[in-house]
Amino acid sequence: MNAIDNLLLNILILTVPILLYHILIIEHPRPYHPRWNKLLIILLCSLTEIFCVSHPVLISTEYVFDLRIIPVLAAFLYSGITSGFIVSAIMITYRLISGHPDFLWMATLLILLIPFTILFMSISNWKLRTPKVMFPSLLAFVSALTYFCIQFTHHILHNKSVDSLFFIYGLLSCIIHTFIMWVLTCLIEKLKENVAIRRELHRTEKLAVLSELAASVAHEIRNPMTVARGFMQVLNQAQVSESKKQIYTAMVIEEIDRAQSIINDYLSFAKPQAETLESIDISSLIQKLMNLISPYASLRDVQIKVQFEPGLWIHGHLEKMIQCLVNITKNGIEAMPKGGTLQLRGYRQNGRVILEIHDDGVGMTHEQIDQLGTPFYSTKHKGTGLGMMVSYRIIKNLSGEISVTSQLNKGTCFKISLPAVVIRS
Ligand code: ADP
Ligand code: MG
Repeated sequence: MNAIDNLLLNILILTVPILLYHILIIEHPRPYHPRWNKLLIILLCSLTEIFCVSHPVLISTEYVFDLRIIPVLAAFLYSGITSGFIVSAIMITYRLISGHPDFLWMATLLILLIPFTILFMSISNWKLRTPKVMFPSLLAFVSALTYFCIQFTHHILHNKSVDSLFFIYGLLSCIIHTFIMWVLTCLIEKLKENVAIRRELHRTEKLAVLSELAASVAHEIRNPMTVARGFMQVLNQAQVSESKKQIYTAMVIEEIDRAQSIINDYLSFAKPQAETLESIDISSLIQKLMNLISPYASLRDVQIKVQFEPGLWIHGHLEKMIQCLVNITKNGIEAMPKGGTLQLRGYRQNGRVILEIHDDGVGMTHEQIDQLGTPFYSTKHKGTGLGMMVSYRIIKNLSGEISVTSQLNKGTCFKISLPAVVIRS
């Protein structure tokens, strides 16, 4: 019974670092420097390893089997050779300091396990193979078996007694190592897969929005082109006075600049960008948003009114913030099939920047509001149901909040609250 208790406790302690790493590093909105990632893995693996050594699973008067190989292997496989070496070194130092030098274990580790693991990693290319979980489990099995064989040889050479319990424990140790490594790698791979799926969903959603905006952007660019063409035709006539020519040329340039800025903003939104955090000026953010969304609005007879306090700054990813606001404003426009007004307001309140997006469209019931942000929830014929999910996530990652108030057939108001950044000039 004691052995099972210890085994379960060991499994728990081996699982916790994986979840912690996932929460602290992978789920964290701001990517850390790879050096910090490595350091955290080393720290977690070392702590787990020390725990495994001090809580062995199978104990008898003559021999002890614990799970210390697993954190060492995890450090090698998931953080590289240096991390693996450091974790091994920490283990050896810990045992030396605590007065249990474990020379047999050190010899096994240094002469057999580390070289074998490195060789395995360099020739197997295991990360690119499927099923990925098979290779680490196999490695754990081989490592446990090697340690058992060395212990066996040691017992024989020193004329110590070897009973059947020794073999049973050895066999159990190999099975437990393989099984636990299999469970842990499954968990790691599943968590990684989830993150990859979420990234893919974000990308798909963005592509869907981009393709929907493309038609209206193209339409919007046609207008300045037509105006510019008209002026050029007028300019071509001989009787136009010099002063009029100047005015017309300025107008042509202005129209072409406008078209250019719409194209630029569309392209920069379409292009994937580095996820760097920066201080964002809300007024320039709104300018870019307007370039993207106003063609879509004018095509649907929606007027956009903008009212922003000056000097509002937030900290975030520009591209993602635009993506979030495009999703919400686009929904607002789509909620007004007969046209209407979309109001964008921005102000400061209690050290936070508040952005309000207000439409007078179809509105939502309480149940519908509760569903917002759930993947694939859509009431539209061709909706993806991903826009709100992505927007909620972007705002949450910036320590912000979104609240929604809505009344059926009256309209909806999305209120985004983000920490304000004070810019000192
Ligand atoms: P999609 O726009 O593809 O349907 P979203 O995630 O962007 O997906 O929106 C999910 C659903 O939320 C919409 O289908 C719609 O029913 C509802 N919704 C979102 N914004 C509004 C709004 N401003 N007014 C009314 N309903 C809205
Ligand atoms: Mg949408």
